[in-house]
Amino acid sequence: MRVIPYGRQLIDEDDIANVVATLRSDWLTQGPAIERFERKVAAHCGVKHAVAVANGTAALHIAAAALGFQPDDLLWTSPNTFVASANCARYCGADVDFVDIDPRTYNLSVARLAEKLAAAAQTGTRLPKAIVPVHFSGQSCEMEPIAALAKRYGIAVLEDASHAIGGSYRGRPVGCCEFSDLATFSFHPVKIVTTAEGGMVVTNRTDLYERLLLFRSHGITRDAKFMEGESHGPWYYQQAELGWNYRLTDLQAALGECQMNKLDAFVARRAALARRYDELLADLPLTLPWQHPDTANAWHLYVIRLRLDRLQKTRRQIVEELRSAGIGVQIHYIPVHTQPYYRRLGFRDGDFPEAEKYYAETISLPMFAALKDAEQEKVVDTIKGVLK
Ligand SMILES: *Cc1c(COP(=O)(O)O)cnc(C)c1O
Repeated sequence: MRVIPYGRQLIDEDDIANVVATLRSDWLTQGPAIERFERKVAAHCGVKHAVAVANGTAALHIAAAALGFQPDDLLWTSPNTFVASANCARYCGADVDFVDIDPRTYNLSVARLAEKLAAAAQTGTRLPKAIVPVHFSGQSCEMEPIAALAKRYGIAVLEDASHAIGGSYRGRPVGCCEFSDLATFSFHPVKIVTTAEGGMVVTNRTDLYERLLLFRSHGITRDAKFMEGESHGPWYYQQAELGWNYRLTDLQAALGECQMNKLDAFVARRAALARRYDELLADLPLTLPWQHPDTANAWHLYVIRLRLDRLQKTRRQIVEELRSAGIGVQIHYIPVHTQPYYRRLGFRDGDFPEAEKYYAETISLPMFAALKDAEQEKVVDTIKGVLK
């Protein structure tokens, strides 16, 4: 039986042709396709700078490094995210804490954030160096109030926009960095556009851009302007910082630049599928995804919430039955603070009750641009059968 996955890539002949042309060119690792891809993403977002990297996790890591994260610094993010949103601080030796989610959007709650900042300021406990709002499922967080709080307390904002390229907030594209210092994307195959593995950091801040370039490639510079002392000649480079090799290849960037041409079409298809799910699932004991009026969702995920008080089955039974029927549903996310690694750092069940309650009831349905109408109907019919 062919399983309908929850997410997958859409690769056309023009993507393949562009990758093959790069394979025949002089450049395999960082070359001209990287710059074209970076310019395309920067133009889409309307930002000055973009730095392509090996994956979305590397993007978060160099973004945290560029912000100067050190041991004793603190990062706050949402517990309803992939572990990488929090891990980027841990890579820098810094600490992590979480802000519980809004029960309607499942994004970091602005009210909880305001309370937690006020409590920290009042008790004189450490404030975070940066907040990482995660645009869960492709729906932007409420960036303007988040930016206002960050400004008031002198905190940086790093958007984890892994789900949300192609989405918008108050008419501006996600990643515009108008309400943040930096934003990161992931181009994993289940995300909106793909480079197989891949990621990007965007920013309007030239100081951060220069540090991102260093951290992407070993902390090495070939630009005399950033060197200490004199250059020894045309071969000369200096290692100014401790960086990593997080470069994306030109092959992947060739795929990415071609995928970016189809971003609007991909998001439009995802939005049409979301509207259809909204219609077809309306009468079931489910909570369907609520849309904040300030946002246009990129629809990385379509998450339903089970009204378990009105159902005879457990969430686990429902997931197992859907999977045995060939519907590859998934769960996003296990609250990060309940992972064994984070428990060892002192987090406990009950620390972020909205995220935990949401986790117990949620299921992500198949959602990707290549999903066919007939496949979506099969998903809906199977859900109706299983919930009956
Ligand atoms: C996918 C994802 C990442 C990590 O991206 P990779 O490209 O897989 O490293 C980070 N944060 C969120 C919210 C993600 O969904």
